[in-house]
Amino acid sequence: MHSAPDIRISTGVRPREALLKGQKYFTELRHWFHAHPETAYEEVATGQKVAAYLKSWGWEVETGVGKTGIIGRRHFGVGGKSVGFRADMDALPIKENTSLPYESQFAGKMHACGHDGHTAALLATAFALSHADDLNGTVTAIFQPAEEAGDGAEAMFADGLLERYPLHAVFGFHNLPGIAAGKICLREGAFWAAADAIEIRLEGRSSHGAQPHLSRDVIAAVAAIVTSLNTIVSRNMDPADNTSISIGRLHAGSTWNVIPDAAVLQVSIRSFSTESRVLILKRIRQIVSGIATAMDVRSELEVLHGCPAVTNDADLTRLAGDVAVKRFGGRNVEKRAAQLTLSDDFSVFQQHIPGVYIGIGNGLKSQPLHHPQYDFGDTLIKRAAMLWIELAYEFLNRRVTANDNILPNPPRTGRPR
Ligand SMILES: [Zn+2]
Ligand SMILES: [Zn+2]
Repeated sequence: MHSAPDIRISTGVRPREALLKGQKYFTELRHWFHAHPETAYEEVATGQKVAAYLKSWGWEVETGVGKTGIIGRRHFGVGGKSVGFRADMDALPIKENTSLPYESQFAGKMHACGHDGHTAALLATAFALSHADDLNGTVTAIFQPAEEAGDGAEAMFADGLLERYPLHAVFGFHNLPGIAAGKICLREGAFWAAADAIEIRLEGRSSHGAQPHLSRDVIAAVAAIVTSLNTIVSRNMDPADNTSISIGRLHAGSTWNVIPDAAVLQVSIRSFSTESRVLILKRIRQIVSGIATAMDVRSELEVLHGCPAVTNDADLTRLAGDVAVKRFGGRNVEKRAAQLTLSDDFSVFQQHIPGVYIGIGNGLKSQPLHHPQYDFGDTLIKRAAMLWIELAYEFLNRRVTANDNILPNPPRTGRPR
C-alpha cells in the first residue's frame, strides 16, 4: 500500500501530456510522502526518494545542500536564462488524527502543512519538463529542508546555493486552506508576514509567599509586561499596516506559596514592512527594560529566530498572474490577494533573487494548516505543476524586449557583483 510508485519518462510525449498521464502516480507519491513525514533536517528518506526520481529522469542532482536539501538541475536547448522552483519538504511534530489510508506511520510526526504536496508537485514539474525538447534555458528544482524550523532556506544559501546555481528568478507556492481548491492567489509586494520569535527572561529574588517584602517579584513584573506588550499594536502601529504580537508561552513559579525568582515569556511577532518590524522590536525592548527597572528585576531579551516578509517582485508577479489567467481563466486567479499573517522562509530566497510566492487554494472545507486533521488536496499537484510548466516556458523562451524588466543580467549569484 505505502510503496512509492515507479514513474518513468516516455518518448514522444509533450510535457503537459506527461503531467496528465503521470497524475495518478504523483498522487500515490504524495500519499507516500504523507505516510513518511520527516521533521526539520531529518528529511533523509524524503530526500533520497526525491534524488532517486530526479536522477532516473536524467537530472543533475546534488544532495546535502543545507544539511538535507536536494537540488536538481537540467539544461535545455541553448538559452542562457535560469529559473528556479522551490518546494519545502519537512513535516511537523504533530500527532496525526485523520484515519486516512496513508496516515502518518511515524508517531508524533505529520505533514500538517502540505509540504508532502509541495514536494510531489515540484517532482511532477520536473518529470513533465523532462519531456521538453523546445525549452531554452536552465531549470533548477530546489527541495528545501526545515521550513518549519525557519532556517532551512538560510542553510541552503550558507551552503553556496547561489554560487553553484545562479538564478534569474525563483517561484514557490503554498496551499491555502479556506480558499476554493486550485484558486491561484498572489499579489505584488508584501504578501506573507515577517515572523520573529522573542524570548524574554526575568530574574528577581525568591521569597515565602507570606513575606513578599523580601522578594523582587517577577510575577508582578511579567503581568505588567504582558499587559503593556498588548498595547503596541493598538497604540504604536499604523492601523493601516497589518501587525500582530502574541504571547505563546509564559512560565514562572512552581507552587502556590513561593514567589519565584525567574520568569520566561515567548512572543511571536508578525509584520509586513521593515519599518513595522523595527518599531515593534524597539517598543518591546523599551517596555521590557522599563518595567524591569520599575519592578527592580533583571531582564534579558533574545531574538530566537526571525524571517523577513514574503515580498513579491512586481514584474514577475505580473508575469505569473498573466500566465495563470491564460491557463486557468480569470475566475481562478486572484491577482490582488489579501495579505496573510502566515510566514515562510521563501522570503530568504527573495532577498537574493527576484521571486514570487503564490498561494493555491486547498478547498473551502480544508482544515487549517498545522491541524491534526489537515490534508493536502491532491488536485493541487496538477494545478501547481501546470503553472510551473507554463512559467518555465514563458520565462525561459520569451524574447527579451528593450523594456522587458524581467531579466536581470547576469543571473544572481552568491558572489558580490
Ligand atoms: Zn507550516
Ligand atoms: Zn508550510
